[in-house]
Amino acid sequence: MELKTAFPRSHEHRELEWACAIHGGAGAIPRTASEETVKQYREGLSGILADGIEMLSAGAAAIEVVEALVIAFEENELFNAGRGAVYTSDARHELDAAIMDGLTGRSGSVAGVRRVRNPVRLARAVLDSNDHMFYAGEGADRFAEARGLERVENRYFDTAHRYRALCEAQGQNTVLLDHDQGYGTVGAVVRDRAGNLAAATSTGGMTNKAPGRVGDTPLIGAGTYAANGLAAVSATGRGEAFMRHMVAYDLCARMRYCGTALEDAAHDIVMSEMEAGDGGIIAVDHAGTIVMPFNSPGMYRAAADSSGNSVVAIWDPPRPTSDTQ
Ligand code: ASP
Repeated sequence: MELKTAFPRSHEHRELEWACAIHGGAGAIPRTASEETVKQYREGLSGILADGIEMLSAGAAAIEVVEALVIAFEENELFNAGRGAVYTSDARHELDAAIMDGLTGRSGSVAGVRRVRNPVRLARAVLDSNDHMFYAGEGADRFAEARGLERVENRYFDTAHRYRALCEAQGQNTVLLDHDQGYGTVGAVVRDRAGNLAAATSTGGMTNKAPGRVGDTPLIGAGTYAANGLAAVSATGRGEAFMRHMVAYDLCARMRYCGTALEDAAHDIVMSEMEAGDGGIIAVDHAGTIVMPFNSPGMYRAAADSSGNSVVAIWDPPRPTSDTQ
């Protein structure tokens, strides 16, 4: 599979004011999905991208934008984060999220959250607390309460389509890796007008995962990372593979220590080091270059920059019926 660079490389020498990419998970619906289903996902992505364009054009800070865009995903039950999150093997929901500010190097992570409506808001509260960096389980829910964040019953996250996926997974006695049958995650990476970078990621994990299982999403350096001067990265796919390869940090380390360009580093990690089907990443560098490589059949993704480029896509190459890609 080829590198899915968002925009033609001819832009790499142009000075961009801002750039933004989002993903809604690497396990995309099959190409055979109905026009109506494809439309719903595309509209979900386009709406969230439009929010990002509006905020960044108005001069919003990268950290504010990634949080707002991931909250929008968490509120959309099509995607596996917040409402619409997948089920654990005991038919509950345990949510993970992280956010990182490339300007300060500060981050906040939460894992195994059960009663917080927007886990990325909680991750942001952890970042802002400037104390601990990572809260898990009951303590994370209690921290949310102390911070006055909106709390919900665990069943608030229930949806019929995710419950069907759980029944299928349990029928096959597997932890499903394919989003249509079980995985996904959402994320945003931004380079703002001031040149600052930020990344945020949120997920329900994988359908039929064991209670207590935590994936790459909240692990800084695995599923989420941002460092000014280098890149902001958000991953989606088989969490264990992203943890093993420390993907998000490895991308930045290659740029920092070897001077490798974002495109080359991302391509090598996703297409050569990882196994086909593992998933993908979105990343933006200090110059506003965006890459969105994946080695799974599809990845919900969208990107835009201040030069007027924008793209919304699910598969690669596009489905023949052109504008439904
Ligand atoms: N990476 C997530 C996890 O392993 C799942 C996903 O991205 O689909 O929890």
